[in-house]
Amino acid sequence: ARWRRAATAPGKGQGSLGGREEAAAGRESHAACLSPAGQPLGILDGIPIAVKDNFNTAGIETTCASNMLKGYISPYNATVVQKLLDQGAVLLGKTNLDEFAMGSGSTDGVFGPVRNPWSYSKQYKEKSVPKSHSEDKESNWVITGGSSGGSAAAVSSFTCFAALGSDTGGSTRNPAAHCGVVGLKPTYGLISRHGLIPLVNSMDVPGILTRCVDDAAVLLGSLAGHDPKDSTTIQDDFKPFELPNLTDVSKLSIGIPKEYHAPGLSSEILALWSKAADLFRKAGAKVVEVSLPHTRYSIVCYHVLCTAEVASNMARFDGLEYGHRSDMKDSTESMYAATRREGFNDVVRGRILSGNYFLLKQNYEKYFVKAQKVRRLIANDFVKVFRSGVDILLTPTTLSDAAPYTEFIQEDNRTRSAQDDILTQAANMAGLPAINVPTALSERGLPVGLQFIGRSFQEKQLLTVAKWFE
Ligand code: GLN
Repeated sequence: ARWRRAATAPGKGQGSLGGREEAAAGRESHAACLSPAGQPLGILDGIPIAVKDNFNTAGIETTCASNMLKGYISPYNATVVQKLLDQGAVLLGKTNLDEFAMGSGSTDGVFGPVRNPWSYSKQYKEKSVPKSHSEDKESNWVITGGSSGGSAAAVSSFTCFAALGSDTGGSTRNPAAHCGVVGLKPTYGLISRHGLIPLVNSMDVPGILTRCVDDAAVLLGSLAGHDPKDSTTIQDDFKPFELPNLTDVSKLSIGIPKEYHAPGLSSEILALWSKAADLFRKAGAKVVEVSLPHTRYSIVCYHVLCTAEVASNMARFDGLEYGHRSDMKDSTESMYAATRREGFNDVVRGRILSGNYFLLKQNYEKYFVKAQKVRRLIANDFVKVFRSGVDILLTPTTLSDAAPYTEFIQEDNRTRSAQDDILTQAANMAGLPAINVPTALSERGLPVGLQFIGRSFQEKQLLTVAKWFE
């Protein structure tokens, strides 16, 4: 690893599934291991893994951090959960999130906000907590980012080795950056969404949170591939790969998209980004400025497409089939209405309303169809850049380090999401793989990360470069 980051976790050192060097050897020796019953052990045997609470788990409550799904127990496992179990993983628990994964702070679920483990780190306390407050656990703490904040916190605090998140606009990469862990959003279609309760079906992907890039590759190998239950998955089986130790990056072309110099980007992160570009340059890689001109429309476009899909997806929660049902007995319609009023928070209800507005007969062409066209333009920008010979894009993941909770909740969910997704959302529009790599500690003693975006289905190249940088 060329990049020496200040620390990888609040308090402890690096820890990984097998250790970087042993990763390759581990996989081989693993195959030879047998269980006491004489069965070959799975690659994840005994590995504790946490799962975001929007993946269905048979026999265990799946809530999406919403009153609507309180008490809901799925009769089946999401494909990714089943794959983890089949390969020997131990499901350690379900992790907290923003209600139905709508958010970027993990502050908006019914179980309350997720606290960033770094809030209690020596580094943060020394640099940012006034001595007079240091014993006061109720103030000063910072958010994890979201919406997969529970998963990021679980990995960052060494509660588990890896966790599943979901990523529709940045929900795996954003909390990974704020919690100092690796967060991989794979190419759309590489990992099955079957059993992931949908937010935006055309952009959702299961995300992988780990402590190092090698671990992300192991998890990817365990999860990726065709699923007959998700028609959007690739047709082929996926061949798991081990990551080589890249020694020569001189043939690589790294693109720096100029549009990612977004308003609000902290000077610290900007400096880190150019330092990282220099690191590649010095190692012989070609570093070029590129342009993705339609990226600036991705947030507004996302607002239309997300809410439209939400309006449609959430229609199923009517009090009859899943979870919560209101006591209102006046009529079936009033039972539906009361169930939805009691079950969903303001954010979800607001998105359903907006989405239904965009889908009205008189608005459909003007908003929904137009947003889909813009989405194509956003995706085509990436295609052009990659066709021009650029291999990987390097950008920041977030505009700044994690905000204190009290500051974060000052703004409404929509404004916050619009800001927080600005550097991550376009990759979802285009379905491209992207990864957050923890990079340094900020002046306040909190982790910050950088993002690499790769070509469709070129996870091996993306992860190899990320590992080199890590
Ligand atoms: N912040 C975005 C939203 O609220 C993205 C969420 C996600 O990726 N799940 O919709």
